[in-house]
Amino acid sequence: MTNQELADLIFPNITKTIADYELEYPARNLPEGAKVVRFAPSPTGFMHIGNMMSATINYVLARSSKGVFFLRNEDTDQARTVEGAVDFIHHILNYYGIMADEYEYNGEIIGNYGPYIQSERMEIYHAFIKHLITIGRAYPCFLTSEELEEIREYQAKSKKRIGIYGRYAKYRYTSNEELAKKIQNGEKYVIRFRSEGDFNKKFVFEDLTQGKIEFPENDIDVPIMKSENKLPTYHFAHVVDDHLMHTTHVVRGNEWMSSVPLHYELFKAFNFKMPKYIHTSLILKKDEETGAIRKISKRKDPEALMFYYEEKGYPVLAVIDAVLTIANSNYEEWRTNNPDKPFYEFPFSPKKMSPSGALFDLDKLNNISKNYLSKMSASELYENYLAWAKKYDSHVYELISRYKDDTIAFLNIEREIKKPRKDYENYSTIFSKSWYMYDEAWSKDLTYEFAKITAKEEILKVMTSYLKIYDEADSQDIWFQKIKELASSMNYASDMKDYKEHPDNYKGDIADFTTIMRVVLTTLKMTPNLYDIMQILGKERMQKRLEIFEESY
Ligand code: GLU
Repeated sequence: MTNQELADLIFPNITKTIADYELEYPARNLPEGAKVVRFAPSPTGFMHIGNMMSATINYVLARSSKGVFFLRNEDTDQARTVEGAVDFIHHILNYYGIMADEYEYNGEIIGNYGPYIQSERMEIYHAFIKHLITIGRAYPCFLTSEELEEIREYQAKSKKRIGIYGRYAKYRYTSNEELAKKIQNGEKYVIRFRSEGDFNKKFVFEDLTQGKIEFPENDIDVPIMKSENKLPTYHFAHVVDDHLMHTTHVVRGNEWMSSVPLHYELFKAFNFKMPKYIHTSLILKKDEETGAIRKISKRKDPEALMFYYEEKGYPVLAVIDAVLTIANSNYEEWRTNNPDKPFYEFPFSPKKMSPSGALFDLDKLNNISKNYLSKMSASELYENYLAWAKKYDSHVYELISRYKDDTIAFLNIEREIKKPRKDYENYSTIFSKSWYMYDEAWSKDLTYEFAKITAKEEILKVMTSYLKIYDEADSQDIWFQKIKELASSMNYASDMKDYKEHPDNYKGDIADFTTIMRVVLTTLKMTPNLYDIMQILGKERMQKRLEIFEESY
């Protein structure tokens, strides 16, 4: 029985050949140097920060080279598919503005190189497998799971390499007649690649990040088609898809590095050109408890999954900057020198990626984010804050919608200046730093942060006298002048030199005096500019706060 006859027996309905597919998916018509890249997540979990790094790097590579970025849904592991994972991927790419040029979603295919969902490419994979069987480079294998387990145990015990290779690959030596008989008997099988590699021989592979690496050749007969659903394995789909879709650069997690010898041999078996590879760094973090540097964990670290950043309300560009900062060692410098350039103009260099891992740190993200939020106009910040609250905090949403003008006015304090305040790391922290502006958030059990002056009587006296002279129409200069005069008349020093020399002559200094007012009005001793806060509150509400103080302190 010929290989061709065996191949026809296994795939009787497959009539198209590799040549047919090559015609169907011709080379892309792109300018010189354009990169064709893809983001190819498996929907076996929700998008995590490692995926985000791959997606962002891909986007940057495509945009900066006038190339193509496509999204491929690698859903061949159907048993582990997680409901909602695909929707979440599309959501995240949209949300962060790193959408693919070609993709397939909700039944719609955008792009000429689809389908972009692997489970819909069955016929293509089968044609390519059929070809390998015909040329003697693939065969059906009937090893049962018990037999496989036995082999594995034996190999482990006798310290041999694990895998189906050489004499363990029993069915590579079986005649086509016998293989055909088993198939006709309905026995279960996978299709395995027939490796021709020699583990004792080496080849050199050049990873764009890690440089030249020497690997032993692959000699394992890996499965390329699974038995239950006839879907290909990752390795096989990678070779077929990235060939037909004309991928020039594969950006993928470092965990795939050890599969390079196999992929190298698979591409060679088809005589296909191998794409270039950028194996991205593992994402590391400093463990909060032990201080040790370890892999970021989806189980332990909430920031590992992309839900986190949206829920906390980090601005999109801050997250992208944080990701690119750990992806490329010169991104931070580039960003400092080009604060207004879009991130995708960054000349990403795989060589500037740390092969030993990328240390992700939330403090860094917080700093980047504070900076972005400080540069937004108050109304832009308000709109983003409102949109965040609408989704994640109905109480805050209700308050800030009702008091839109006051909220914007508060957010605007010390904003449109050379060195704006950097109070907020994300939208979810704004309310905890502005709650006191909303009367509804005041209750009877507040903690007043008074400092030097704590006696209720004195505080009441200061505030009552002050409210008598407070005039909303005063400019900030006049406002302060009046405070100073009142302070002096109540025996608080406004001349700091004299106060330092004779502290006992005074109840306190001018700062102690304003602290009294600030704490009565906000409960806090540190807030944005008090003049602006008073302007927003207005005299009547200030009066009310004094009453609350009187009742509750
Ligand atoms: N589906 C693979 C994964 O999610 C993709 C690896 C690749 O990009 O080739 O890990």
